[in-house]
Amino acid sequence: EWILHNDQFIQEEDLKISMEDRGYQFGDGIYEVIRVYEGNLFTAEEHIDRFYESAEKIKIVIPYTKDVFHKLMYDLVEKNEIDNGIVYVQMTRGCAPRVHQFPADCPPVIVANTKSMERPVEAMRSGVQTKFVEDVRWLRCDIKSLNLLGNVLAKQEAYEEGLFEAILHRGETVTEGSSSNMYGIKNGVLYTHPATNLILNGITRRVILELCKEQGIEVQETAFTKSEALEMDEFFMSSTTSEVMPIIAIDGHKIGSGVPGELTKKLQKAFEEKLKLTGNV
Ligand code: PMP
Repeated sequence: EWILHNDQFIQEEDLKISMEDRGYQFGDGIYEVIRVYEGNLFTAEEHIDRFYESAEKIKIVIPYTKDVFHKLMYDLVEKNEIDNGIVYVQMTRGCAPRVHQFPADCPPVIVANTKSMERPVEAMRSGVQTKFVEDVRWLRCDIKSLNLLGNVLAKQEAYEEGLFEAILHRGETVTEGSSSNMYGIKNGVLYTHPATNLILNGITRRVILELCKEQGIEVQETAFTKSEALEMDEFFMSSTTSEVMPIIAIDGHKIGSGVPGELTKKLQKAFEEKLKLTGNV
């Protein structure tokens, strides 16, 4: 199993990370997860663009061009012979004696690994159950930061109740999932939180909004409330690993008739078609 360490491919057991790596001590870094279908990176450019944007927002300079970075990701997938799976890549501000302010002369530390993973076809067919959890995260959720404690605690709360995802809300307003974006459909119109500082603008979210355009589904990037969520005809979530995942219940309340909705299924189908079109499945 090869991993990437800066621009070197090494074996995982040979990786050394300093105790004073700022990712370790402060969560001072960013990450991306890129899907691999049939050995190809899916929407790699979009993920890489977002990685560079996150880096800029926290003022880390990535020492490679996007093309070089892309090739490093691709070579890692090839070296590990990943057919279906993911690449996880993170970058921290580097290591230096522990002070909060940015240290001088501190080269960033990049690591990446791969994992084989099949598509969650069973869950996508049956739909999943969820619960509301208060969104107590900071106000820069648009940054794909390594600081995930708010997300971790929310997911754990759902997991302990046997649920697939936590739906986060700030007061009455639904924002996103602990590791996904959220959508409701009412009278044929798709609603999702606008891409502000309160959510991560998912790459899958962007693909879905594009598919809605192609399929003639009206989209309103407008926040909705918890009670509006419960009254939606259909509900689903999206992420790099969950694709278009139907949500059939929130806090034990059935959404619609408690089965994946028709437009949700249409979007799942369109998403699959897109995988085929781009030579990915
Ligand atoms: N929001 C949050 C908080 C996430 O962690 C993720 C997945 N990492 C998403 C949304 C979905 O983003 P994407 O479609 O790019 O995986």
